[in-house]
Amino acid sequence: MIRRRNVKIIATLGPASSSPEMIRALFDAGADVFRLNMSHLNHENLKIVHGMVRAVEKEVDRPISILADLQGPKLRVGEMEGGSAELVDGQTFRLDLDKAKGTAKRAPLPHPEIFAAVKTGHSLLLDDGKIRLRVTSCGADFAETIVIVGGTLSNRKGVNVPEAVLPVAALTEKDRRDFDAVLKLGVDWVALSFIQRPEDIAEARKIARGRAAILAKIEKPQALVHLDEIIEMADALMVARGDLGVELPLQQVPGWQKRITRAARRAGKPVVVATQMLESMIAAPVPTRAEVSDVATAVFEGADAIMLSAESAAGQYPVEAVRMMNNVAIEVEGDPTYPGIIYSQNNQPEATGADAISAAAHMVADTLKAAAIVCWTNSGSTGLRAARERPMLPIIVLTPVPATARRLALVWGLHCVLTADAKDLDDVAERACGIAFREGYAQPGQRIVVTAGLPLGTPGATNLLRVAFVGHMGSSAD
Ligand code: PGA
Ligand code: MN
Repeated sequence: MIRRRNVKIIATLGPASSSPEMIRALFDAGADVFRLNMSHLNHENLKIVHGMVRAVEKEVDRPISILADLQGPKLRVGEMEGGSAELVDGQTFRLDLDKAKGTAKRAPLPHPEIFAAVKTGHSLLLDDGKIRLRVTSCGADFAETIVIVGGTLSNRKGVNVPEAVLPVAALTEKDRRDFDAVLKLGVDWVALSFIQRPEDIAEARKIARGRAAILAKIEKPQALVHLDEIIEMADALMVARGDLGVELPLQQVPGWQKRITRAARRAGKPVVVATQMLESMIAAPVPTRAEVSDVATAVFEGADAIMLSAESAAGQYPVEAVRMMNNVAIEVEGDPTYPGIIYSQNNQPEATGADAISAAAHMVADTLKAAAIVCWTNSGSTGLRAARERPMLPIIVLTPVPATARRLALVWGLHCVLTADAKDLDDVAERACGIAFREGYAQPGQRIVVTAGLPLGTPGATNLLRVAFVGHMGSSAD
């Protein structure tokens, strides 16, 4: 089983897709990573769905990545009388700590930290920004507002306060419990929502203690201010356009998508583009032209992964949505303009052995028109640096560490294969040839470029580049 594309596909699991058959069908259609959204999973269901993904992984005998997405400090209004109320433009509306159910005149907002942080003139956005209020006066336990854009406000809708810096930790009590639960089960990536500062990531890293890699969701303007430090602290990033598009003027999101993607690529950190990519496919078997174009833009930009949310979690066409992403990605990556656009961002190697060898492997492979680059790696860091080169040929990662293979399933262009550490230098080339052949990436008579570290099996010691001829039935012919 091989994929004919570089960009990876993340499918969020939910009611529409939480069965072994659906997970298998999504994998077959092209999903490389499954996202478990902790906003909607209790620990019992988490365990069940996690088990399903691991069972499919075993069945297909390919490493599959699991991304657990923590809810973060998502702010919500309380309950409304009769479930909802109509807010009318120009009317006043009060938010306060009173637990009584909401009406068209007021609603409970059980977050004192919001009242402490907002000021007269600030915007309060409800329900993904569909309803817009402006604060006219406020105190320690209330805010009086005027309705700028009205609409139906129903129970527990989300609240955004883009102009205020909230003194809230990125990890709530619920997040800590969920974090614990996902680490116990064993996930590959943990996504942090609504981070504002690099310290938020440092804290998560302390909890994870290497058991999962940390993905920082960029969905608040405050995170953009510290983008470089956040990239340095995180293992990967997500352009979380859903909340980012509520907190920022919508028209600023595309530019930020490019800036975040480019900065992450420069740092060699995987970057995911997420939310509403094929939104209309929640209810229709075919996307809009604009959505296809949006997916294409992320692929042209060289993002590591593109993500489906409600399309695969709650929509009517989860498999079709993955298939559509897969087809768009293959087409874009085969377009004659693709290499030029990818290489318009020229990321020079940093002064490390891994980068020097990765850049050299890329050049040698291009010069020889090699069939593939094969990287031996334990920690996975050499795989990341090879992917940072964005070579226009397959990259096969060989690792004895299952967690590495799974983690790297999220990364641009990497095809990970589990295999024991190489015994000696001949084995480094022979096994690379055999696996490249068996996996369908190289034919007898073709050359591959192999990178490894001496002494073998030592992390962080990539210092070796070798060209190998694939011989009869994948034997090494040199
Ligand atoms: P969410 O994150 O789906 O958990 O809100 C993604 C986004 O905000 O785009
Ligand atoms: Mn979000």
